[in-house]
Parts: sequence; C-alpha cells; structure tokens
Amino acid sequence: MATDSLVSTDIDYTQDGKQIGVLRVPQSFNTAGWANYFIPIAVIQNGSGPTVLLSGGNHGDEYEGQVTLLNLVRDIQPEQVQGRLIVLPMLNRPACVAGTRLSPLDGRNMNRAFPGQHNDTITGMIAHYVSYTLLPQADIVVDIHSGGRTLQFLPSVNMHELANQTQMSEMVRAATAWGAPYVFIYADVAGGGLLPSYAESLGKITLGTELGSAPQFGVDMLGIADRGLKNMLRMYGVLTDTPYAPPSPAPQLVAAPESADYVMAPVSGIFEPFLEMGDPVEAGQKLGQIHSTELPFADPVPVHAQTGGILFGRCGFPLTQQGACVATIVRPYTLT
Ligand SMILES: [Zn+2]
Repeated sequence: MATDSLVSTDIDYTQDGKQIGVLRVPQSFNTAGWANYFIPIAVIQNGSGPTVLLSGGNHGDEYEGQVTLLNLVRDIQPEQVQGRLIVLPMLNRPACVAGTRLSPLDGRNMNRAFPGQHNDTITGMIAHYVSYTLLPQADIVVDIHSGGRTLQFLPSVNMHELANQTQMSEMVRAATAWGAPYVFIYADVAGGGLLPSYAESLGKITLGTELGSAPQFGVDMLGIADRGLKNMLRMYGVLTDTPYAPPSPAPQLVAAPESADYVMAPVSGIFEPFLEMGDPVEAGQKLGQIHSTELPFADPVPVHAQTGGILFGRCGFPLTQQGACVATIVRPYTLT
C-alpha cells in the first residue's frame, strides 16, 4: 500500500458487498482553497477469487469505457461475483467532464503519467494511487480506450509484445475471450508512462482496448465493450451470472511492431484518405494526401505507407497537424 499517497478514500478494499465512493485528490481552485477533486470508484466483492481493476476515462474524450463501467457497477450484484472488481469509470474525471483527452487542470495526459508521484500534479497523484495502492491488489487489469476525437480504429483488445511469453500468452487468451474482431499487439511511438505498460511490468494480466472513435460511439461499439468485458470476466470465473462461452468467430491476432507502421503527417493540413479501414496496404502505397490550409491551391502533400498490411487505424478528424499519426498498418501475428 502507498502510505505516502495524498489521496484518501472511505472505501474498504477488504469488505464484501458493493461499495460506491470517491478518491479524494488534493486540488486547490481559485474559488476553493482547502479542496479535493473527487474521482469515482466502486468495489464489488464476494469471497475469494481474482481481483480485476477496471478503468475508463483515462482519456476524457473516450466515453465507451465510462458508460460500460458505469452500467456494470449498476447492473452487477455482489452475489454474481466471485472475487473482486475495483472500478474507476472516470479515471481522469477532470478530462471526462471537459470532454478532452488531456486534463484541463494540469494539461497532462493520464496515460503518460504512470507510475506518478505522491506529490505530483493531480494527474500524477491519481496515477500514483493507482500504481501503488490499486495495482498491487490486482491480478487482471483492464483499461478501456477508444480513438476519441483523434483516431479511429477497427475494434480491438490490445497489449504490448512482452518478453515474458507465459504472461503474453495468458494476455492473448484473455483478449481472445473478449471477442472483439481483433486482438492488436501495439508498440509505443509517442512516449512512455502508460497505465497498461506499468501494469504489464508488474506481471499483471493487462488488457487495453481501442473501440472506434468519437463519431462511432453508439450501440455497436458499446456492445463490443459490454459483452466482451463480461465474457472475459466469466472466463476467469469472476462473473458467475451465466457460463463462459468462447466467442465465435475468434478474433484475428494482428500487430504493428515497427515504428514505420505508425504513419505520421509530414505537414499540417486536411488529410484526405485514399483507403477505407480494413483495406489492404502495400509498402510505398499512397494512403492519402494533405491539403494545405495556408496555400490551398498548392499541390497536396502525399502520405505514403512504409510498410504493408491492412489499414487498422486512421486519423479521426480530417484537420491534422504535422507529426500526428494519420494511419496505422497491421499484419497478422502469431504467438511464438
Ligand atoms: Zn485513449
């Protein structure tokens, strides 16, 4: 337990039943000097069994995880659980409230703040509490993301490629139980400090997701999140409402291991795509072109794929900026 954490809560992590509460994180405002910012938390526990840490709203403009986990906390009763669910539906609540990827209180990306420090800014203090108080209690960690406003994805459950093959194959088994169309092995091309990276480094069975994008928020993506999460929990026997059924068809296992699989915009402007999601891609192929907003009649700048595969991710808003990822290419992956 993180005895040096400045975050407090009335939640008792050893108690059976359903508890609804908050994490109180010190945060002063111009209108409130002695103040805390409340991060919602729920614990549903029944007897012994695995502990599953579930988070949504790591990025505030990604609402699939927030809605799925809020519904889960309302719907699931302790008698349907064997073990413990610790649920943080709005991990970066300041960003969720603002509808932004980054926290408006300190400008930080929660998913680059791990493991955080006890006397950090608010984002780092939340990360620190998760890292040193919650993650040590967890066997399975699920952090639900989607493309938000910045990217769109074919729906996937994802993870990094790990050196520990035992951990990796168990994570692929858990991801497969989810039943999203894809299980996606990704690489970090925009910095470290991710919640899933830290959880993986502790040896936890760690799953992330990328479910569509803000414009795709709806019945299909929420269904993949809700059905998949529950199916994975049933496979581990943590959710006992109905028996586990392996998904059919089984997800496709794909990976984007090379930095060149993440194509960055060479210039700022309007990205015009030439391919639809899921289309095959050859190395060297034109993925699209970028129109300048400053020199509108200048020739558009082409964007080329450097690797081949299928188009798995694409920029979620046409107006892009130099250095932003506009396309992600994946290829089939086989566990060694
Ligand atoms: Zn995200």
